[in-house]
Amino acid sequence: MIQIGIAGIPQAKKGKGMDAGIRYLAEIKLDAMEVQFVRGIFMDSDATKRASETAKEVSIKLSVHAPYYINLAGNKETIEKSKKFIINSALRAIEMNANIVVFHPGYYSKKEDTFELVKSACEEIKDKIEKKVLLGIETAGRKSQFGTPDEIIKIISEVEGTIPVIDFGHIHARGNGSLKGKNDFEGVLNKFDYDKFHIHFSGVEYEDGNERKHIPVDDEPSFEPLAEALIEGGYDATVICESPLLEEDALKMREVINAKIKG
Ligand SMILES: [Zn+2]
Repeated sequence: MIQIGIAGIPQAKKGKGMDAGIRYLAEIKLDAMEVQFVRGIFMDSDATKRASETAKEVSIKLSVHAPYYINLAGNKETIEKSKKFIINSALRAIEMNANIVVFHPGYYSKKEDTFELVKSACEEIKDKIEKKVLLGIETAGRKSQFGTPDEIIKIISEVEGTIPVIDFGHIHARGNGSLKGKNDFEGVLNKFDYDKFHIHFSGVEYEDGNERKHIPVDDEPSFEPLAEALIEGGYDATVICESPLLEEDALKMREVINAKIKG
């Protein structure tokens, strides 16, 4: 089954709060929301409890995105702060019954140290949250960031309780436009020995192997070949639309999926 969701509160309900956003997603027949703590962690336990109840009532699946400013391979102080941001995001995810807390692990320090730093931070975080929510480690869109598919595969194979989050916009940017046909998307999916994926998707503007910004879904990369690869591969996937058009693009993605399933 392929579920489609969006990053944060839908455009139609901006300023109306989490519950209105969750209900609206169900009304327009989307399946999921990734709660965005990317610029700060903002929900108290009343809010998380309400979100959890609303999401359950209308069958919207929740996940959480931790702050952008995390770096598990920075200096000591940055690593400590970053761990706290992830733990605080994860605790709210647990209260909301979200299944996964997503984060970008960080930037290369002295390159040979980065993996061990990220790994040991993930181990500590996992112990603090008692494995009640999965740590979703996202593929990164800039050359300075830890997070190629191979690096993510290595982390998830060594740290229990972590899963990959595949951001196809990031992979496309880092590969300078590498995702074109179905084979390219299959190549990425096949690298991971998984049958269930948490995916981010949006258009991306890039330069010289670096993501510049998210843009509406069109042909950089195109969603159609990914839809084909997911359906033909029989994958279970939750695809979170991170395009600036949010639900507008998510609904187009849903149509593409539906047409291919019927087709
Ligand atoms: Zn993403």
